[in-house]
Amino acid sequence: MQTNFTDRQLTDPAIAQSEKILRNCVHCGFCTATCPTFVTLGDELDSPRGRIYLIKDMLENDKPATEKVVRHLDRCLSCLSCMTTCPSGVDYMHLIDHARSHIEQTYDRPFGDRWLRAILAWVVPRPAIFRLALIGASVAAPLARWMPGRLKGMMAMGARGAQPPSWVDQPQVIPARGVRKGRVAILTGCAQQVLDTAINEATVRLLTRIGIEVVVAKGAGCCGSLVHHMGREDQSHQQAIANVVAWSGHLKDQGGEGLDAIVITASGCGTTIKDYGHMLRHDAQWAKPAARISALAKDITEYLAELDFDLPVTAQDVPPLRVAYHSACSMQHGQKITRQPRDLLKRAGFEVLEIAEGHLCCGSAGVYNILQPDIATRLRDRKQANIRQTQPDIVATGNIGCMVQLDCDDLKVVHSVQLLDWATGGPVPDKLRHLVPPF
Ligand code: SF4
Ligand code: SF4
Repeated sequence: MQTNFTDRQLTDPAIAQSEKILRNCVHCGFCTATCPTFVTLGDELDSPRGRIYLIKDMLENDKPATEKVVRHLDRCLSCLSCMTTCPSGVDYMHLIDHARSHIEQTYDRPFGDRWLRAILAWVVPRPAIFRLALIGASVAAPLARWMPGRLKGMMAMGARGAQPPSWVDQPQVIPARGVRKGRVAILTGCAQQVLDTAINEATVRLLTRIGIEVVVAKGAGCCGSLVHHMGREDQSHQQAIANVVAWSGHLKDQGGEGLDAIVITASGCGTTIKDYGHMLRHDAQWAKPAARISALAKDITEYLAELDFDLPVTAQDVPPLRVAYHSACSMQHGQKITRQPRDLLKRAGFEVLEIAEGHLCCGSAGVYNILQPDIATRLRDRKQANIRQTQPDIVATGNIGCMVQLDCDDLKVVHSVQLLDWATGGPVPDKLRHLVPPF
């Protein structure tokens, strides 16, 4: 794509980066067919190519964001399916990040939108406050059907209820059982530790059982992804730096005992942490430490698959269940992790089922299902229908957002690590108790 930025504009490193990205796009439009919003809405401006044009026009002409640009860019899920499809390697992720930051700086959102975003950005990253908010929302949940779309989404989340704090999310070092074979830090996250404590508990049980010491670092918290996708750069950088400081303190040359990896169980967070080095690349103080942390970040399945020993599967208690594996967008498109979770589940004795249209987002995408409830609901319904076609006993995935979005009466969704923990000697996940004797 030809661009016409001036020399003055190109002195801004963010513009210079976006100009390079734009130049890679050859307008071929292959990405439109795999973009969930284009597939759902059929509007070129809700496709990657359409959004790229809108961003180019906005940045090249130094324009503040308009209502039209914001409408179409807000509808982007940041699922990154377009990046998997694009034959020219267009780095859409960093282009939309820049565009969102530009919107945040130049566009005055309507009061209700601004208010909702500010509340979400403040509440969700703080587990104690988020827990209280969910308890409040659960009280109001019976009124949800009479509420407008966005409030309905918030109430629906509240209806799931908040879980009490788990011991596993407190700062500590949890020793390996037997001979220590490795040492990792885990991200306990923010929303995940409120919505489903079983995930971190299963992770710690599994890791320590196989000889891995687990560090829950003091000062580590939200990865910053939520506010990052809202274009709130300062806030996301602060959250990223807090994590870099917390984990760096455990590295050997910083006086710690060393870390083999930083293990992440929410793929949405993993994509962001792996990008810390890029996010903070212009920060003289934090660029290098952030790049180091990014290099250590691994999804739990990525980490387990790279171990030089097999998981000790105790298959006698685990029936060969039919597991529909839902690959979260941040897992398959953001981190390009596709084989590892499926291989681990198969090796643990499960029958892994492929879901049609697996590349399409389920509509969760952080808080997208609250901010864009109509599109999110259409994508959820489509995904659930595709999952039902596989006739699974259970659905497994690697991201709490997808779990919340897809779980329903007839489709029970667990994290892959819960199945792996069970298969290696852990307890039966609660959602599977009805399938495993004694009932
Ligand atoms: S990130 Fe997803 S929703 Fe956004 S343009 Fe790309 S494919 Fe479409
Ligand atoms: S597939 Fe890639 S090169 Fe083609 S229009 Fe989409 S982003 Fe541009």
